Amino acid sequence: MDLKDIGEFGFINRFANKFNSFIKKDEIGIGDDCAVIPINESYNYVITTDLLNEDIHFLKNKISPEELGYKSLAVNLSDLAAMGAEPKFSFLSIGIPNHISVEYLDAFISGFYKLSEKYKMPLMGGDTTKSSDKLIINVTVIGQCEKTEMHLRSMAKEGDLICVTGFLGDSAGGLKVLLNNLEPSPNNKYLVQKHHTPEPRIQEGMWLAKQKTVHAMMDISDGIASDLIHILNASNKSAIIHTEKLPISEALLKGSTENNWNPIELACSGGEDYELLFTVSAKNIDKLKKEYTAQFSENISVVGEIKIGETGINWLKNGVEITNNKNGFNHFSNK
Ligand code: ADP
Ligand code: MG
Repeated sequence: MDLKDIGEFGFINRFANKFNSFIKKDEIGIGDDCAVIPINESYNYVITTDLLNEDIHFLKNKISPEELGYKSLAVNLSDLAAMGAEPKFSFLSIGIPNHISVEYLDAFISGFYKLSEKYKMPLMGGDTTKSSDKLIINVTVIGQCEKTEMHLRSMAKEGDLICVTGFLGDSAGGLKVLLNNLEPSPNNKYLVQKHHTPEPRIQEGMWLAKQKTVHAMMDISDGIASDLIHILNASNKSAIIHTEKLPISEALLKGSTENNWNPIELACSGGEDYELLFTVSAKNIDKLKKEYTAQFSENISVVGEIKIGETGINWLKNGVEITNNKNGFNHFSNK
């Protein structure tokens, strides 16, 4: 059997239950954005790790070493944001091929430090080894959150509204700019910047976690088409998504018009937006939206609704069902 036949999640599902069977009360293992380990009666540690491989996750001649250092930490912090956690500690392991200079590594660390400094987050350890010819980066982060403020993927309820922060698809637009060597216009530069230096939604995650009306929460790393399925699987629900309500930035619209991209497709399946995806009880949505905007001077977008029924997403455009064959990014899948 080839890995592409089952995909990354098919592989993980082959062993997750076996190990999860050792998990003790109040611990959470494989399956959410972070693992959860109780600290005491009031607090949990939440822990996550991400691997970035040269040519798979980044193109070394397109991203600066500072940006790469920053992004390596940012993508991990996004998983802490998804748990509403406060960042506490990080670990960094690097496999370094011969041709990487010390100056390159210094610049990488300075990008990593820049984001660490924002959260006063010490780098607590890691590992440094040689690699054959590609740069390999693994970051682990530990955060802390209150036990009463846990928002797991399994917590979506029937009738909840599905919400997202920020805009979707900009990062995928940025990747297209890079891959197609498009001119560095201000618009294209903005999209590339969203791709190279995503801002993890730490403050927003911590704020949303405190709201009792917020139920399930996760971050969007692979695209809403794939990531929402994780919430639906864990919560045993289905969903409708109104594609015309997906938040698309002016920059992505402009890029799409100029280059003949499909902005909805990029918003659904592009991935690497690192926005938050969460569900909210419908009767509280107006209050939540107002308070969020007052707090962060940005809007929450309501893009769909949680329904009962077999796990899956019904895609609508102005109320009419459409087919969306695009799934999110899945390593190993050849679709
Ligand atoms: P995220 O995109 O939020 O980082 P993933 O989709 O990569 O999460 O992973 C889904 C879940 O599977 C997470 O709980 C993650 O810790 C777990 N997981 C992924 N790969 C492995 C692995 N090789 N061994 C154990 N758990 C894994
Ligand atoms: Mg995640």
